[in-house]
Amino acid sequence: MSKNVLVTGGAGYIGSHTCVELIEAGFNPIVIDNFSNSSSVSLERVEELTGKKVCFYEGDVRDRQFLDTVMQAEEIDSVIHFAGLKAVGESVEKPLEYYDNNISGSIILFNAMRDNGIKKVVFSSSATVYGDPHTLPIKEDFPLSATNPYGRSKLFIEDILRDIYYADNHWQVTLLRYFNPVGAHKSGRIGEDPNDIPNNLIPFIARVAVGQYEYLSVFGGDYDTPDGTGVRDYIHVVDLAKGHVKALQAFEKDDLDNLLTVNLGTGQGYSVLDMVKAFEQSSGNEIAYKIVERRAGDIATCYADPSYAKEVLGWQAERGLREMCDDTWRWQSQNPQGYAA
Ligand code: NAD
Ligand code: UDP
Repeated sequence: MSKNVLVTGGAGYIGSHTCVELIEAGFNPIVIDNFSNSSSVSLERVEELTGKKVCFYEGDVRDRQFLDTVMQAEEIDSVIHFAGLKAVGESVEKPLEYYDNNISGSIILFNAMRDNGIKKVVFSSSATVYGDPHTLPIKEDFPLSATNPYGRSKLFIEDILRDIYYADNHWQVTLLRYFNPVGAHKSGRIGEDPNDIPNNLIPFIARVAVGQYEYLSVFGGDYDTPDGTGVRDYIHVVDLAKGHVKALQAFEKDDLDNLLTVNLGTGQGYSVLDMVKAFEQSSGNEIAYKIVERRAGDIATCYADPSYAKEVLGWQAERGLREMCDDTWRWQSQNPQGYAA
C-alpha cells in the first residue's frame, strides 16, 4: 500500500498541522493548494518541524487537468479534503463563490479520484451541520440542517459523499465533523493566520492580547448559559490533526463500515468569558471586552459527544484549555504578523 496521501488545502491552518502529524506517523502528504487563504511559508515550516521535504503542487481543486496531472504523477492511496472557503459571514455575501469553491471543487475532485482509481477520502465537515441542536451533547445521528451557504455547502458535500458510497461501496468515506479548532503547534512555528479581521473567537482574542485590537466584542451576554455568553467545544488543532491520522489508519481495518461519520470534539463546553480568562492567564495580558448584540445565526451552546470517535477510531482529545491558550499565545506572540513577516 502506498502511503501517499493527497492533502487538498494542506497549506492551511488545519492542513499544515495535519501534514506534521501525517509525516510523524509515516505517511507521505502530497499537498495541493491554490494559496487563496495561506502561503507556502506554512509548508516550509512543516519541513523545518519534521525534517522532511513536503511535496506540493500549487493549483486549484476545480482544475480537472491539474488534478489528473498530480494523480498520475504520484501514487495516491487516499485523499484528505480540506480545500474550501470557510467564513460563514462571507458565505452569506458571496454564496456563488462558496458553492463554486466548496461544492463544484468537491465534485471535480471526487470525479478525478474515481477516474484515477482512488476511492478513500476523509472530508472536513463541521458541527455547523447540526444547526441548533435540541439536546446536548451532540451525537452523530442528530438531525442535520444549515442556516447559511457555508453550512449548506458542508451538508451538500456530505450528501454527495454518502450517495457516492451508496452507489459504489468500494469507496471508503470518513466524514469528520469538527467542533471549534483552536491552538497551534507547540513549537510556535505554525498556527492560524487569518487574512482579514478574524471572525473566530480565539484568533480575535489573541490579537487583542498582542495589542492589535483594543477590545473583544462579546456577541451576546443573555444566552441561557451559566454566564450568559455562548458555549462551544474548543478542540486543539493538534488533537484534530491526529484524528485525521486515525481516520486513515481506520481505512485499513476490515471490521469497520466503509462510511463513517465522526464528531471530533472534546465533549467539554466553555463560554466566551471562560476563554477570555484562560487567555489572560496564558498571555499574562488583560483582555478588554464589551458585551454587544448577539451575532446573527449564533446558537447558545454546542458541544460534542465524542464517544463514537473513541469507539471507531481509537481517538480522543488529549489537550486541555490551558494548552490550547498557551500554544495559541506562543504562535501569536512569536508571529504577530502571521506568516507575512
Ligand atoms: P484554511 O483556510 O486555513 O485552509 C483551507 C486551505 O484550502 C487554504 O490553504 C486555502 O488556500 C485552500 N483552498 C481553498 N480553496 C481552494 C481551492 N479551490 N483549491 C485549492 N486550494 C484551496 O481553513 P482551515 O481552518 O484549515 O479549514 C480546513 C477545512 O476544515 C475547511 O474545509 C473548513 O471548512 C473545515 N472546517 C474548519 C473549521 C475551523 O473552524 N477552522 C471548522 C470546521 C470545518
Ligand atoms: N464570539 C464572540 N466574539 C467574537 C467572535 C466570536 O463573542 O469576536 C463568540 C461567538 O458568538 C460564539 C463563540 O465566540 O459564541 C465562538 O465563535 P466562533 O466564531 O469562533 O465559532 P462558531 O462556533 O461560531 O463557529
